Amino acid sequence: MKRLSWDQYFMAQSHLLANRSTCPRLAVGATIVRDKRIIAGGYNGSISGGVHCVDEGCYIIDGHCVRTIHAEMNAIIQCAKFGVATQGAEIYVTHFPCLQCCKAIIQSGIKTVYYATDYRNHPYAVELFDSANVKTKKVPFNNFFEHDNQAEKLKLFANIMKKLESAGVEEDEIKELYRQAQNIFSHDV
Ligand SMILES: [Zn+2]
Ligand SMILES: [Zn+2]
Repeated sequence: MKRLSWDQYFMAQSHLLANRSTCPRLAVGATIVRDKRIIAGGYNGSISGGVHCVDEGCYIIDGHCVRTIHAEMNAIIQCAKFGVATQGAEIYVTHFPCLQCCKAIIQSGIKTVYYATDYRNHPYAVELFDSANVKTKKVPFNNFFEHDNQAEKLKLFANIMKKLESAGVEEDEIKELYRQAQNIFSHDV
């Protein structure tokens, strides 16, 4: 049995939280950790009790959805709400933080930012993290929910599809099967 690393464990938590996002533009999750313990988590969503982008559509101003509070902000605000210190903590985020979240992270005393995916990494955010001595480290997320033999399953699927194509199965039916497989494998098939 392969034991899950702390980095992957916290990163998995952030990816799980991202699935609670209410804005269809981008699903982000953030987990604040102190001494290897999760102290708060957040995802991008509306204020409590507010309408959701997924139900009402986004509220776009200047190309940005203004309805949601970002995942990192939500996690930091959760700490404020319940009186949990963030000084010296670490944050695990699915995407590189935006400029606003970058400033909030620095100001909250968080010392390390682990992110899984680069996302429009703003040069000023990179500069601010540097000058505030906040370390940023890319930790690509290895989705452990996916089985180890995923590659073999994909190969088998591709082979079956080829056979079906050469057997003269309708193109539309093949396309539908590909669509279904994409949902299952969450990968490019
Ligand atoms: Zn939205
Ligand atoms: Zn942000």
